[in-house]
Amino acid sequence: MSAPAANGCADLHLHTYFSDGTYSPEELVAQAHRQELRVVALTDHDTVEGCAPTENACAAAGIEFITGTELTAEKDGHEIHILGYGIDIQNANFLGEIGKFQAVRQNRIREMVQRLNEINVPLQAEAVFALANCRAPGRPHVARALVQAGLVGSLDEAFERFLKKNRPAWVPKFKMSASNATELIHQSGGVAVMAHPGLNRSDEVIPAMVETGLDGIECFHTKHTAATAEHYLQIAARFQLLITGGSDCHGLSKGRPLIGSVRLAYEHVEKLKARLAQRRAASVSHFSA
Ligand code: AMP
Ligand code: FE
Ligand code: FE
Ligand code: ZN
Repeated sequence: MSAPAANGCADLHLHTYFSDGTYSPEELVAQAHRQELRVVALTDHDTVEGCAPTENACAAAGIEFITGTELTAEKDGHEIHILGYGIDIQNANFLGEIGKFQAVRQNRIREMVQRLNEINVPLQAEAVFALANCRAPGRPHVARALVQAGLVGSLDEAFERFLKKNRPAWVPKFKMSASNATELIHQSGGVAVMAHPGLNRSDEVIPAMVETGLDGIECFHTKHTAATAEHYLQIAARFQLLITGGSDCHGLSKGRPLIGSVRLAYEHVEKLKARLAQRRAASVSHFSA
């Protein structure tokens, strides 16, 4: 059985202010250094903008960095978050495709604000965009803007009253299919990992996702109990999936910063890197054939 998550040195699920986290890349890396992490991956939602500055800060701090993103996808009616690790962050096709989803996110902000206005909550879209100041804004930014404008007392209240599914300002988000997300990650040289499966409780879609190329599963996550982690370790063994883990730290937006609270053993990082090397070697031989 794998080493316990708490004994490791890697946190592979982190957000910055390039999506819905509060830390800058430099603040994130300073926290990683304080936590004595040896490896970090940045997994902002639908963007890789934060990767280059995080990589630079990691190099200065002597921390190993893995590029990443967290794509929102859909499979059989389930919302599935797919982590892409080791992607080439300059891949033009990848940037073009996630650009479409960034545009979807921006339009969705306008729609959420319009629905708030219809129920006499006078928030302005520009206030949300100014606060978010990133290409991949989401509901957490609307929540923060509502708090900032004094229209609700807390982020929780914003979600409970307005933003949760089936609340008045909830707007569904157009999602790519899980297989397209996996393919996009592969085409960009990365490996695809199902994020926090214990939150979505969508185990029945795992076999089909493995069929369409899923490489790994996030067994260790802040919201997984030890029993949940164990459950997904067994699934990983059954389907020969890579094992990953991370805190899903969003900085200071959700209480105490979570970075370093989930620590993946380095042996799993090595297996992830070996899969990435295999994928690169395969794509080189493909192009030279
Ligand atoms: P979006 O991608 O715009 O639908 O926003 C999803 C993000 O909102 C998640 O990644 C969480 O960070 C956050 N979130 C979702 N539900 C809640 C909630 N009930 N309270 C606080 N944050 C939430
Ligand atoms: Fe988030
Ligand atoms: Fe997620
Ligand atoms: Zn996340």
